[in-house]
Amino acid sequence: MAMALRLLCILTVLVLPACYKTVISPVHVNKNKAVYQVRSGDTLYSISQRYGMDYRALGKRNHIRYPYAIHTGQRLYLRRVAPRPSYIPLPEKHKKTVHNRRTGDKRTDRHGRMKSSRHTISHRHMVRLIWPVHGPVTSGFGRRHGRPHDGIDIGVPEGTPVRAAAAGEVVYSSHRLTGYGNLIIIRHTHDMFTAYAHNQINLVRKGDHVKRGEIIARTGHTGHASGPHLHFEVRRGPTPVNPLAYLSKR
Ligand SMILES: [Zn+2]
Repeated sequence: MAMALRLLCILTVLVLPACYKTVISPVHVNKNKAVYQVRSGDTLYSISQRYGMDYRALGKRNHIRYPYAIHTGQRLYLRRVAPRPSYIPLPEKHKKTVHNRRTGDKRTDRHGRMKSSRHTISHRHMVRLIWPVHGPVTSGFGRRHGRPHDGIDIGVPEGTPVRAAAAGEVVYSSHRLTGYGNLIIIRHTHDMFTAYAHNQINLVRKGDHVKRGEIIARTGHTGHASGPHLHFEVRRGPTPVNPLAYLSKR
């Protein structure tokens, strides 16, 4: 018995480091199948970019839905697929899409109703966003150091009240989305969301309905943040868009 136990211990020691090494770095089983273990600082989006994947496909492959929460140590199955040409998270492309929709999209569905794209555009004007905090934009939307930056950073002191940019329902209030620290996501319409990251403290919970301008959090530097600021995102469905296109002029 003691012998068996000792053998088991030795085996464990021998096997564990190998397993550890295996799961820490991506394992390419073949070109179409691989496993990746989530590391600190990863987001579903950053992983998808690294492996040339569409993040929605990566989410679907792993049964992860919006807001795509992943956690350190989680194993993700990768599968290489060509990124959809429609998905380019850059402001230029977004403007073009909006323009096209605004000027000419009058398609109807098979029941003769106007398609939702018209709906979507009207929302862009209906949902007026107020600035969640007042401070300088210290980092813009788009690429930063070669990596995508899905929102804007607004520099404010620690503990500054964060206000809901528009009325809506809190669909996420937690700290499990790697890198974002204490994060709040509010749904304003069926496909429009705002996100508030790196909070010192979240003051609302999932399921809460908030008014425009209501204080929902206090700014901090939780998650991956070099100093106190608010990381603010606007999403149309899962696609990040430039918040400056939605925020009131100041
Ligand atoms: Zn940021």
